[in-house]
Amino acid sequence: MATLKQYDAIVIGAGISGLYQLYRLRELGMKVLVLEAGTGVGGTWYWNRYPGARFDSESYSYAYSFSEELLREWNWSEHFSSQPETLRYLNYVADKFDLRRDILFRGRVAAAHYRDDARSWDVTLEDGSQFRSRFLITAIGPLSAPTMPTIPGVDTFQGASFHTARWPHEAVSFEGKRVAVIGTGATGVQTIQEVAKTAGHLTVFQRTPNWCAPLLNSKISPEEMTRLKAGYKEMFQRCQETFACFLHTQDPRGTFEVSEAEREAFWEKLYAEPGFGIWQGNFRDMLTDRAANALISAFVARKIRQRVKDPAVAGKLIPTNHGFGTRRVPLETKYYEVYNQDNVALVDLRETPIERIAPAGIKTSDAEYPFDIIVYATGFDAVTGSFDRIDIRGVHGLRLKDKWQAGPETYLGVMVNGFPNMAMLMGPHTALGNIPRSIEYNVEWVTGLLRHAQAHGLTRLEATEAGVESWTDHVKALGAGLLSNEIDSWMTGVNSNVAGRQTRRINRYSGSAPAYRARCDAVAAQDYQEMALD
Ligand code: NAP
Repeated sequence: MATLKQYDAIVIGAGISGLYQLYRLRELGMKVLVLEAGTGVGGTWYWNRYPGARFDSESYSYAYSFSEELLREWNWSEHFSSQPETLRYLNYVADKFDLRRDILFRGRVAAAHYRDDARSWDVTLEDGSQFRSRFLITAIGPLSAPTMPTIPGVDTFQGASFHTARWPHEAVSFEGKRVAVIGTGATGVQTIQEVAKTAGHLTVFQRTPNWCAPLLNSKISPEEMTRLKAGYKEMFQRCQETFACFLHTQDPRGTFEVSEAEREAFWEKLYAEPGFGIWQGNFRDMLTDRAANALISAFVARKIRQRVKDPAVAGKLIPTNHGFGTRRVPLETKYYEVYNQDNVALVDLRETPIERIAPAGIKTSDAEYPFDIIVYATGFDAVTGSFDRIDIRGVHGLRLKDKWQAGPETYLGVMVNGFPNMAMLMGPHTALGNIPRSIEYNVEWVTGLLRHAQAHGLTRLEATEAGVESWTDHVKALGAGLLSNEIDSWMTGVNSNVAGRQTRRINRYSGSAPAYRARCDAVAAQDYQEMALD
């Protein structure tokens, strides 16, 4: 063990969080190692190469804001950037700040064990190599542990099959092919509308329809890019002030405080505008008042019926078990019109469930469908799944997975009692929203904590049990009364394909981002006295 390579900090993951954390820790003069499972940087945007993958947030509002030089240099070509462009951007960032020299690629972490005698973490990769570090920072993402469906026969299929989050680096052609897509979340929707353009025939297997709304993407001209850059300061300021760091934020009015005509006009306007306005910028009571939610749901249902020619198909695409916005709203580009194409069919799995994947295709309760390609857009073991896949052990060998069996318990979404010197970026119970905005704050807070430790010679930082209890209670209380907590989704921690993930729990902080930051800022301003520092 004495020969282990030692670091001040090990960061797991070279996505948006890990890259920025490395940049900040270098400023503290720390010796840092980033361990990245992939062969390149980018995290989510490295792995999710599926056809049609792109931002649902405005490109410029999603970018890093910490470097004025970077902001000046980088031009976005579309309002909602595609995955290849986003990945180019993150590679550009890695090169510009010379980040790669501290990143070990193909370094998937298998285990991280805390050793109280050394006040350090011993980190082991899947290939057996080991490292020791005073601090461990997880930058492993809330949506990074893909899950395959537990349908019998998945391994027997003889055609090509892909999970969207493990898409090959080489292009996949759908030209003339019989293609199946299973899953209709944000990923499935983006995939389906793209694959439908070229597939010989596409069959969509839908278990639960989601409420989707138009993305309305467009190109950014050089002149518009110049104008956008001139407004960056105000735009990032706005993102700091909105509820979830998006450009869009709740309308202060209640649904029933305006006339029916005004309401309809407002919704028409939102439906015709690019981006998340209809979800994030709607009436303030949309996600808490059942009657209000029923009205907006009826509005969007009418839109779906107008766009899909066959009323029976439209009926299948309209959700009935949850209201608009109570699950993450996929933004789409002519998604509903796809079902008007002759080469596309929709199979409703509530009527005819999949019985098995066969060597030649998919067998449902009433038919056998032959396929050349099956795409699994079946989602992730969200929020805690990426932690569960690493053997993380704290004081006295306590496993994080066991500690969180009944649901995550954290201090500010960043620290865990019993796991000293470990900090989480985008961990459970932190503010997610427009992720890079939240990441920058998270990283800066963790950097501040480590700067404090450096300045005071502290070698052991731990969240107290009381601190964790109080934050966890607060997060649970914030979730009360939210309609989104009454439906199964990754946001409520339900995944039918993962043992033990069949019941809902509070996985996310659902207060406002400004309130989250105010709470964390106050802790820092009081020199982290709420924590156990030694
Ligand atoms: P998801 O929302 O969890 O959707 C998974 C889909 O697969 C659901 O339709 C689910 O049906 C279906 N499914 C899972 N197991 C199945 C089974 N055994 N049989 C049949 N169907 C099955 O996952 P996702 O679409 O990958 O999206 C996850 C999140 O990633 C999004 O909500 C979003 O936050 C993020 N994302 C962002 C972007 C973007 O910003 N542009 C794009 C894509 C994703 P049920 O609903 O019935 O479970």
